[in-house]
Amino acid sequence: MLDLPINIDDVKGFLDPEEGATLYAYATTRAKVGLVVEIGSYCGKSTVYLGAACKMSGGFLVAIDHHEGSEENQPGQEYFDPDLADGDGMSSLAHFRQTIKMADLRDTVIPILASSAMATKILTQTLSMVFIDGGHSAAAAFSDYRRWAGLLVEGGILAIHDVFPNNADGGRPPHDVYMKALHSGLFEEIEGVKSLRILKRL
Ligand code: MG
Repeated sequence: MLDLPINIDDVKGFLDPEEGATLYAYATTRAKVGLVVEIGSYCGKSTVYLGAACKMSGGFLVAIDHHEGSEENQPGQEYFDPDLADGDGMSSLAHFRQTIKMADLRDTVIPILASSAMATKILTQTLSMVFIDGGHSAAAAFSDYRRWAGLLVEGGILAIHDVFPNNADGGRPPHDVYMKALHSGLFEEIEGVKSLRILKRL
């Protein structure tokens, strides 16, 4: 059952509560088996769902983000938040740290302040679950899939956020990555909740 340590509505972010509850449910099981990884933490909303589940199961969550925001989070862009302004760019790091502290997850969440590509230089072990919620450009989305999906153990969970079958609802790359994963023969879809897709490594 969903049991969060803080009021999740207080955390900035773009994750729907039903999507969060779904992540929580899968992470609760997968954290007992091995490491859970999140790509793209922003202010820590999904980190709380995944981290709370990992904590309950005695596991750990590696939360990867350079905290400089994706293209759409930059000043002048659609999803820029003035609260996160940092020089001529933005930073979600202070909000992320505050979220993890308030949620009492510093003993469970292991943040990596680096790009997803950099993080793969040191994270090379097999993984139990990967949540891809990073950059939405085709280059970023496919790079995340290529770099991380192959590390999943058999039975591991690949969760992809912002999958929009209808072009009008959002950007295309996460959907294209989801289709690529399905057509690879390496994954089967087991659940879809709003824009979240849950795939299992065969
Ligand atoms: Mg997202």
